[in-house]
Amino acid sequence: MNKIIAVVEDEPDILHLVSINLEKSGFKVKGFEDGNSFLKGIKETTPALIILDLMLPDIDGLEICKLLKKDDKTASIPVIMLTAKGEETDKIVGLELGADDYVTKPFSPRELVARVKAVLRRRDPEKMSKNIEIADILVIDLEKYEVTLEGKPLELTTTEFKILEMLAKKRKWVFTREQILDYLWGEEKAVIDRTIDVHIRHLRTKLGKAGSWIKNIRGIGYKLEA
Ligand code: CA
Repeated sequence: MNKIIAVVEDEPDILHLVSINLEKSGFKVKGFEDGNSFLKGIKETTPALIILDLMLPDIDGLEICKLLKKDDKTASIPVIMLTAKGEETDKIVGLELGADDYVTKPFSPRELVARVKAVLRRRDPEKMSKNIEIADILVIDLEKYEVTLEGKPLELTTTEFKILEMLAKKRKWVFTREQILDYLWGEEKAVIDRTIDVHIRHLRTKLGKAGSWIKNIRGIGYKLEA
C-alpha cells in the first residue's frame, strides 16, 4: 500500500513539483493550498507524513504544527517544515514544537524526497525493513509472505518464496544447493539436491523478467543478482 503524504503549500508550482516527485517515489500525495483545508482534510485521512510550508495565507504553519502535536490523533505524524531563507527562529520554534525536520527554500525535490524517506525510516525502522526491494520493481514482503513484480502480486509456493527470500537477503552471495536445502528443510531433508533446480526453474518462470536475476553458478549453486 502506498503511503500518503500530505503537502501543505500555497504556491501551486512548488506543490506541483513536490507532488510529482513524491509520486515518482511511490507515495500518494494529498495537496492542500491553505491551512484550513488541510486541517479539515486531516480529519478524513491520516497521512504517513506531513510536509508543511510555514508561510501560509490563512494560518501560520507553526500554529498548525502546534495544533497537530496537541491532538492525540495527529501528534505522532511526522512533520517536515518548508521554510524560507532567514526564518531561522521559525525553524527552531518548529523543531521545538515537535517537527521532525525542515527543508529551506529553494530546495531540490530530490533532497526533499530523501528527507521524507529518512524521517519515515527513522520513525518506523521495523516496518521498513520487513520489505526487500530489488531494482525498484520486485518487492518481497517478509511479513505477509507476498511478492510483487511491478506492483502485480506473484503466486509463489512456500518453498519458492523461501528460496527467493534466502537469495534476496544476501544478494550476490552464492548459496550451494546443500545450504538451500538446509534452509528449507533443516535436518528433516529427505530430498536430493537436484530438487532445488526444479523449484528454482519454477521460481524463475514466475518471476518473469526478474527471473534472470537468479543465476546458476556451475557446480556450486545459485545467487541473486539484479
Ligand atoms: Ca508559502
